[in-house]
Amino acid sequence: MIQPGKVVVIGAGFVGSTAAYAMLIEGVAREIVILDIHKEKAEGEALDLEHGMQFVPGAKMSFGTDYKLVKGAQIVVITAGANQKPGQSRRDLFVINANIVKSIVKSVVAVNKECIILMVTNPVDALTYVAWKASGLPRERVFGSGTTLDTARLRFYLGEMMGVYPQGIHAYMLGEHGDSEFPGWSAASVGGVDLQKSKVWNTAKMEQAALKTKRAAYEIISRKGATYYAIGLVIARLVRDMLDDTRSIMPLSMVLKGEYGLNGVSLGVPAVLGASGAQIKQELPLNAEEKKKLRISAKIIKDLIDKL
Ligand code: NAD
Repeated sequence: MIQPGKVVVIGAGFVGSTAAYAMLIEGVAREIVILDIHKEKAEGEALDLEHGMQFVPGAKMSFGTDYKLVKGAQIVVITAGANQKPGQSRRDLFVINANIVKSIVKSVVAVNKECIILMVTNPVDALTYVAWKASGLPRERVFGSGTTLDTARLRFYLGEMMGVYPQGIHAYMLGEHGDSEFPGWSAASVGGVDLQKSKVWNTAKMEQAALKTKRAAYEIISRKGATYYAIGLVIARLVRDMLDDTRSIMPLSMVLKGEYGLNGVSLGVPAVLGASGAQIKQELPLNAEEKKKLRISAKIIKDLIDKL
């Protein structure tokens, strides 16, 4: 039986532990379980977080390596995976992480078929598809963080440029969480005004914001080795949307079944997120160039999936 508010984070690395930290500070969950193949790492993170309990809204913390811990979880967040080694190709990393994710998902559904699985491990789009296939669950309950982080980055850069708080801007990065992602300008607005028709529109400046967004992960990784604070906040927000049934619209990596003319692939498109998972309720009115970019992203992700 599902225990309301129980969230399991699989992978106690930078991303998993920061997500747990963000959830704890925000009081998102009633119980947070940290699971990792390295028990000591999971234990260390859980203990460190527990010791801050006096200063946060409060949640039960558990840790371990045993999938029995996944029983009753409402949400399972997968951040586990191998890191890219110097000289290792993206394809080789994908194959390694696909095998890790498949085995994790099979262990999850063996004890819990009612949970929602949120994929975060990269390459997140291809791995979302792999996780969905391995789970046997409906696509509404297996999806990835997609371009939510990239969209937050775009809104930050646009907001900075316009002198507006990012929440007032509605503009999505779409497609692959990776090099082929692109901004969906034709469906973007600021304060209710079509962004391209607004007084602040400046093609060169807007494209500069999109470029900074695309390069953001490289810029951070080259300086500090990994990105984790913003994705931690993204995860906490997506978990809250599910636990509180907020019905937020987020650009999640969704397995497509004909939407945008695409099939058999998962990529970042807006979906409504709530207690039963994520659903694509409507398609963005993309222009021809954007539709082409979405097809290119889909092909890149599909080519990776086909390599398995
Ligand atoms: P990390 O190396 O710090 O942590 C990975 C953790 O996974 C480690 O603790 C490791 O022990 C654990 N692990 C490995 N195999 C496991 C298994 N079979 N079962 C359980 N645990 C296992 O890496 P990180 O910096 O936390 O990043 C995690 C992933 O998140 C990476 O793939 C990274 O690229 C991705 N990421 C995604 C986004 C996004 O927007 N989707 C953003 C940032 C990072």
